[in-house]
Amino acid sequence: MALRFYNTLSQQVEEFTPASDNTVRMYTCGPTVYDFAHIGNFRTFTFVDLLRKCLRANGFQLNHVMNITDVDDKIIRNAVAARQSLAEYTKVYTEAFLEDCAALRLERPERLVPATEHIPDMVAAIQQLGDGQHTYATEGSVYFKIASFPGYGKLSHNDFSGNLTGARVDVDEYEKADARDFALWKTPKEGELFWDSAIGPGRPGWHIECSVMAIKYLGETLDIHAGGVDLIFPHHENEIAQSESLTGKPFSRFWLHAEFLMVEGQKMSKSLGNYFTLRDLVAKGHAPESIRYLLASVPYRKALNFTMDGLRSAAISIDRLRNFKLRLETDRCAEGLNQQLLARTAQASQAFTESLNDDLNTAEALAAVFEFVRDANSAMDAGEFRAANAPAALEFLGLFDSIFDVLQPSAKAGGLSDAEIEARVAERTAAKKARDFALSDRIRDQLLEQGIILEDTKSGVRWKRK
Ligand code: AMP
Ligand code: ZN
Repeated sequence: MALRFYNTLSQQVEEFTPASDNTVRMYTCGPTVYDFAHIGNFRTFTFVDLLRKCLRANGFQLNHVMNITDVDDKIIRNAVAARQSLAEYTKVYTEAFLEDCAALRLERPERLVPATEHIPDMVAAIQQLGDGQHTYATEGSVYFKIASFPGYGKLSHNDFSGNLTGARVDVDEYEKADARDFALWKTPKEGELFWDSAIGPGRPGWHIECSVMAIKYLGETLDIHAGGVDLIFPHHENEIAQSESLTGKPFSRFWLHAEFLMVEGQKMSKSLGNYFTLRDLVAKGHAPESIRYLLASVPYRKALNFTMDGLRSAAISIDRLRNFKLRLETDRCAEGLNQQLLARTAQASQAFTESLNDDLNTAEALAAVFEFVRDANSAMDAGEFRAANAPAALEFLGLFDSIFDVLQPSAKAGGLSDAEIEARVAERTAAKKARDFALSDRIRDQLLEQGIILEDTKSGVRWKRK
C-alpha cells in the first residue's frame, strides 16, 4: 500500500509522493544549541529519522536540510554569562548534539545549516519582504506585518480575522491566541552582539532563518516540512507567511508534526526541570538503543509518556529480538522448508511495511514483528521450524532493523556482559567438539563484531575486549 501521512495543513491523511522526480525535498527544524538536548527533543529527531528511513524504504531519495539555531535570546544570554563568544559557546552544544544523534543512530540530514552562516541571505529576504510591503520598522527593529498575508492561520487552523491588530512581539515564542507581528530583525540591546547590515545593526529573529535556508537549498516549494507540535504556532505559521510572501508559491506540500514526550502528564522541557538528557540516561546504565527503541515505539502523533519502567521494557524487547536472531543463526534445525511458516514470514513482513506506510504506525509494525517472533519461537520449540526457513526470517529481522536499528549493541554501553560472553564461548567450544566448524567460526566472528577477541590457548579459550 502506498505511503500515507497525516498533513497538518489539510488535516487529512494523504498519499505521499515527491512533487517531481524521485527525490523528497524535506526541511526539519533543528536544535537550538544553548544546552544539551533532552530526550523530549530527541523524540522529535527520532521521528524524523524514522521518516527518512521509511521514505527510503519506499524507493525515494532524500534531499533533507536541517538548521542549527546558533543565535537566539537564550544563547546570547548564556554566552555572555559564560564570557564566551557566540561561536565558542555554540560549538560545544552543536558537537554534543551531533554525538548524541550518532549514539541514537539518527542519520545525518544531507545538509546541516547553521543560522549564523546565512545572515546576508536573511537580510536580503527581509529587504525583499519590505519591497513587497510586508514589513515595517520601529526603533531599529523590523517586523513582519501579518495583516499583509491573507493566509495567516492556515496551518494552525486559527481564525485570526478581526484579530490582526498590529500588536508586536519581540520574543520568538508566544501563545496561540496571540496573533502578533513578529520580529524579522532585532535591534541590539545595550551590550548585545549584532551584525552590521543594510537594514541596520541587529540580529535575525528565529523564524526567518528557516524560510531563507529552506528556499535556498530546497527551492520554493518543499515536499515535507516537519518538527514538533509546539512549532505549528507561531514558528511554522510564521515560516509560511514569510516564505509565501517572498515567492507567491505554497511553501510546503506536507507538514508533519510529532507529539510530545511527556513526564507525569506534562511536556518534558528545560523550563519545567522534568527532563533527562541522553547522557543522563546512559550514565545510569541505559543503552542508547533502548532509548531509541522507546522513542520509536509509540506512533509519532501520540504523546509518549516517559517512565523508567518503559525504558526497561524497551531493553527487554530488544533482548527478545536479539535472542531470536541468535537462535536463528545458531540453532540446528532439521533440513527442509516449512511452507506454512514461510508464508507466515511473508505475511508478517507485509504487515510490518503496511503499518509503517500508514502514517508511520510504529506500534502496529512492532506488533507484527513480535507476533511473528512468538510464532517462530513456538515452531522452533515444536521442531517445526526448518533450516531453510531461517534466511527469510533473518531477512525480515533485517527489514525491521533497517528502520528501527536496535539489534546491534552499542559498543560504549558495554554490549554483552561477561556471563553472556562466557556462554557464547562455551557454545563455540561445544560446536568445535562436535566438529561444526562453520558454527564455531560464526560465533567467533559475531563476538569479534562486538569487539570481543578470542584466543585459543593450550589451557582453553581466553577472551578480551578490544
Ligand atoms: P529546540 O531545541 O527547543 O528548538 O527544540 C528542538 C525540537 O524538539 C523541536 O522540534 C521541538 O518541537 C522538539 N521538542 C521540544 N520538547 C519536546 C518534547 N517534550 N517532546 C517532543 N519534542 C519536543
Ligand atoms: Zn524552523
